[in-house]
Amino acid sequence: MEIKGIGISGGITIGKAYKFQPLEITVEHICCSDGCQQEQQKRCDLAKQTAREQLNALTEELKSQPDKAKIFAAHQEFLEDEEIDEMVHDFVYEEHYCAEWAVESAYDRFISIISKSKNKLIAERAADLQDVKLRLLCILTGKKKADLKHLPENSVIVAKDLLPSDTAEMDRKNVLAIITEEGGATSHSAIIAKSYRIPAVLGAVGAMDGVEDGESVIVDADKGIVITKPEGVLLQEYREKKILSDRETQIAEIWAGKPGCTADGVHISAGLNIGSHKNTDGYENCDYIGLLRTEFIYMDSDHLPTEDEQFSIYKTILENMKGRPVTLRTLDIGGDKTLKYKELPKEANPFLGRRALRLCFDEPEIFRTQLRAAYRASAYGRLQIMFPMVGSMDDWRRAKDFADKVRAELDQEGIPYDKQLKLGVMIEVPAAAIIADMLSLEADFASIGTNDLCQYLCAADRLEASVNEYYQSYSPAFVRVLGHIIKSFTNAGKEVSVCGEMAGDCKASPLLAGLGLRKFSMSPSSLGKVKYALSHYSIPQCEELAQKCCNAATQAQVKEILAQAELEAMA
Ligand code: PEP
Ligand code: MG
Repeated sequence: MEIKGIGISGGITIGKAYKFQPLEITVEHICCSDGCQQEQQKRCDLAKQTAREQLNALTEELKSQPDKAKIFAAHQEFLEDEEIDEMVHDFVYEEHYCAEWAVESAYDRFISIISKSKNKLIAERAADLQDVKLRLLCILTGKKKADLKHLPENSVIVAKDLLPSDTAEMDRKNVLAIITEEGGATSHSAIIAKSYRIPAVLGAVGAMDGVEDGESVIVDADKGIVITKPEGVLLQEYREKKILSDRETQIAEIWAGKPGCTADGVHISAGLNIGSHKNTDGYENCDYIGLLRTEFIYMDSDHLPTEDEQFSIYKTILENMKGRPVTLRTLDIGGDKTLKYKELPKEANPFLGRRALRLCFDEPEIFRTQLRAAYRASAYGRLQIMFPMVGSMDDWRRAKDFADKVRAELDQEGIPYDKQLKLGVMIEVPAAAIIADMLSLEADFASIGTNDLCQYLCAADRLEASVNEYYQSYSPAFVRVLGHIIKSFTNAGKEVSVCGEMAGDCKASPLLAGLGLRKFSMSPSSLGKVKYALSHYSIPQCEELAQKCCNAATQAQVKEILAQAELEAMA
């Protein structure tokens, strides 16, 4: 049987299913009589105190693993939420609910509200609330939560969904893969699977009924499929695929440390995409940072980061990069990214709303603070700044004006900064792509955000699996647009990089090189794969390939052309 889902981390594994059935607590709905409310409220308060102690201990225990510690820190915030407390209190005092019932009802109400949020990132935080609820109910009922702390070797975990605490406490060394029925590309399970490079298929509906405990199961995270009871030819086929996939991973690890270069010796700059100063994974293998997603610094904080806080973070990154360029993208909040401490406008289509630069124009103090911090940090390395969601020359000039004013302020205050600092434009709105020739005359460099550019060009939500077939990053239309942008900036003598996911997709590497791209910025895990792929093609071969793709009629044809070329190049 084959079950489809969303593949995360990539890779193929064959292991033994370990079905994880978390504890389900059935709460008895008992009404407490008048006068007993105080006692029930006290039980709630004590349970909260115990939960607080447990979470503090877990956060402390995981101090050296910030990814995991963050999950429990978020749980602490939910636990201290005053609105939930008030609701628990009301259920006890006004409805006469016993402690368990009051906690269950209050949490369920909040879970139902946030899981309906159109913003997927918020909706997926319902799993955290569920987690906190379960913790409190376990304390109140004295039951013990099932966990994944001790697993048999070569386990493929199969679950309806994994709560964040399940994944954080998981016996990592024995987990080959994860399959869940729920959860999307931005869920906690996905984040954890990616950070530990565990192949996963999420949203695999029917997996709990379709997979038996202990049976052999294939997880193909490249294709997002799960195959149960594999036998005969199929099993053999997958064993061979697994050997290839493991070999690719090994090769990628070796190639990550080599310089980027085509078969005819043309240098390719390998850039890194980062979202924090805390993790320096990939620094040793890159020529530059092509994208510092600064919004993650804002999302990681419980307040708007001050100028000094930002300055110190940007300075750390520049110092760690030891003179290599760092491209800071100004705040790109809105769309799917929100800040817990700042109310953003409610919009029917947030991806088409006041996002990124638009929000910065409306909140000049936030923009100014970030630019001041960035310019001050520029004295400590080679910083360049770029603006996201530019849609016109007006946007570009307005953003540049902000930078000019900040420079004038710093001059007046006698604060040092890099006078040569380059200002660039992110090309991710089709309108900007079309006028790339104009933009190239004024901007110092460009970086192409293929993730957004493709969603806006194809009118297909990048986060919505149901319109995935319309999100065509290999369509001739998209290829031609990319060619136009790259050519415009190259002709103007300005640097152009790609920092969207396409830069890390090794199948697209020869095509992008053929369109004239020499700078590819990606996540650390893609560096080796892209360098290895490009080493097999000469520039004339890439150019011929790109020409064929531009002249193709459909995305399928482009993929076919690239697959054929790959077969020949790797032969
Ligand atoms: C992009 O849109 O391609 C990009 C790099 O930015 P983000 O994914 O952060 O929107
Ligand atoms: Mg973008």
